[in-house]
Amino acid sequence: MDKSIYKILMVGPQGSGKGTQAQILSEKSGIPIFSTGNILRQRIQTKDEMGKKLAKMMNQGILVPDEVVNQIVFEKIDKEGKSGYILDGYPRNLDQAEFLDKKEQLTHVFEIYISDKESLRRFLGRRTCEKCQTVYHTEYNPPKEEGVCDKCGGKLVIREDETEEALAKRLDSYHKLTEPMIEFYKDRQVHHKINGEQSIPDVTEEILSQLSINS
Ligand code: AMP
Repeated sequence: MDKSIYKILMVGPQGSGKGTQAQILSEKSGIPIFSTGNILRQRIQTKDEMGKKLAKMMNQGILVPDEVVNQIVFEKIDKEGKSGYILDGYPRNLDQAEFLDKKEQLTHVFEIYISDKESLRRFLGRRTCEKCQTVYHTEYNPPKEEGVCDKCGGKLVIREDETEEALAKRLDSYHKLTEPMIEFYKDRQVHHKINGEQSIPDVTEEILSQLSINS
């Protein structure tokens, strides 16, 4: 790998495979992933007032306040992001993108797009490791042993926020809030649109072809 510093955003609707691609890219390159969804899910394990409020919003599929995610991500970047990072789940609206841009300029924004219909199909088979948060799919990306994480042996579960009602809210928020944000990155010419309905390796190859990282 060359010495470029990559500041990457993976963006796409629920089920687009952005989290999976972030994991693959991180394994190949050593670049850390900062996933706001995963950080927030860990945070709600602390069942204090703040944790309870966050859990309620997340389970309904609505966005948590910008101040909360801005702070989480900036702390991560300051502590662990000096040599680059892959952002998964942040920024998710125009205000967050503008806030981030004051401090950090992203080098690549990979928009992985799929239809709402495909999003629902994929959603129904999603399983997440309750220990290390690795994501699988019963059909497209199954673990070696059913219900068990390949990486850490943790139990694979359906997340509490993975109801069809919450999915509908997330897709709505994606179309209304996240898609307009993507325009911001098109203007900055760091945007790459990738068809997420291809196979996982094909999507990876397209991403790698934009970066100087060997597959
Ligand atoms: P995800 O795992 O990325 O689908 O995130 C799960 C949930 O965490 C979302 O439905 C939101 O409630 C919250 N969340 C994650 N990232 C953000 C963000 N950038 N802004 C606001 N809420 C977020």
